Amino acid sequence: MRKLKGIKLKHRKNTENSVTVQLPLPSKIILPMSMHMGVPCTPLVRKGDTVKIGQKIGDCEAPFSVPVHSSVSGTVTAINDYQTSMGTVCKAVEIEPDGKQDISDEIQPPVITDKESFIKAIRESGACGMGGAGFPTHIKLNPAKEIDTLIINAAECEPYITSDYREMIENTDDVLKGIRLVKDILGIKSVKIAIEKNKPEAIKKFEELTKPDSAFDIVTLPSVYPQGAEKVIIYNTTNRIVEEGKLPADVGVIVINVSTVAFIYRYTQTGIPFITRRITVEGNAVREPKNIFAPIGTPFADILNFCNTDIDKLKAVISGGPMMGMCIPDINMPVLKTTNALLAFDHYDDRKTSACIRCGRCADVCPINLMPAEIDKAYRIKDIDDLKALKVLLCMNCGSCTYICPANRKLAETNQLAKTIIPKN
Ligand code: SF4
Ligand code: SF4
Repeated sequence: MRKLKGIKLKHRKNTENSVTVQLPLPSKIILPMSMHMGVPCTPLVRKGDTVKIGQKIGDCEAPFSVPVHSSVSGTVTAINDYQTSMGTVCKAVEIEPDGKQDISDEIQPPVITDKESFIKAIRESGACGMGGAGFPTHIKLNPAKEIDTLIINAAECEPYITSDYREMIENTDDVLKGIRLVKDILGIKSVKIAIEKNKPEAIKKFEELTKPDSAFDIVTLPSVYPQGAEKVIIYNTTNRIVEEGKLPADVGVIVINVSTVAFIYRYTQTGIPFITRRITVEGNAVREPKNIFAPIGTPFADILNFCNTDIDKLKAVISGGPMMGMCIPDINMPVLKTTNALLAFDHYDDRKTSACIRCGRCADVCPINLMPAEIDKAYRIKDIDDLKALKVLLCMNCGSCTYICPANRKLAETNQLAKTIIPKN
């Protein structure tokens, strides 16, 4: 690990002043049983059942999993197989909204008396990391090691995306109350709210509101990519290094995304589970870029239409940011718990790939000191020993190497493929 040099990207945060608006109710909702990292859920409903908002419609006994709740009231119209963007096949529950938006009788604020009941409640909320990875929040909040520092990840370093920023501006109070709740229940002494310096209004707000409390530290980070990657943000806020094979808890740290911590507070007050996402909708094919609240499960097509997108001219649609997001093969795919942005363009990167010129730029920008050009070479001859020695499994798929490569080699994508050919044991 070294101080992040990172790459400077054009921010393009054109929606930073767009107050979040509610998407009209879609005509269909598709809820995959795997929207989180971990074991997929099993549907708890059948075709023809009626459901209400917040009703649990999928769950699993495995601890490393979170339940799925209905984001609308309506009728289950189908339960089909669904392939996630990670290639996992699971069931997906389709629901036709009835327009009544009746709230389930199951919805009540959780009774929280101690750490155990808090962790249990967070699992029941269906929460998983909103920053993109979808790690179950109740697991993250229950480490076996002693934690002295809570880092709130408010870097939001990907271009275009402003959904975390809008959470900080629109729901400042929820963020702070969520942080205090987690800090007090887990007995954590110190809080670092890490914000990139391209968000001066948020920095000012949080500095003012936390000034009297010495436990809080607002850390202003340079605007370089990938500042928000977990190991990078830990190093740049605490100088602690999470070694290979170790977790943040091994260095006494928990990192939580800023929107996740605000959700935690709201859930403890209302009992309404994780059923809605704030999404930044942007890209040159979108005529009316916006931040929107959408029910989880909404087909992307509904959102693109709401934002007056030139659907006929679409060449590339990305769920997430341009660096780490996934290209969407079908705009009828749904918003997931991890969806923080939807980008639509009338062009795609059609530059030709050429031979490596051994310039070393890919290794230079890698935040964890990997050698992407060497990994690329080893993958082409399927040299598993070399791939292991080059530590490809550590690659966090930030995309910096692909972005910087003058030969337009798809290095980050190759790393993902290389990981799949390394035997698990
Ligand atoms: S995608 Fe992987 S190899 Fe490339 S810069 Fe990021 S961490 Fe390094
Ligand atoms: S940046 Fe591209 S051209 Fe340069 S060493 Fe890496 S793979 Fe080769």
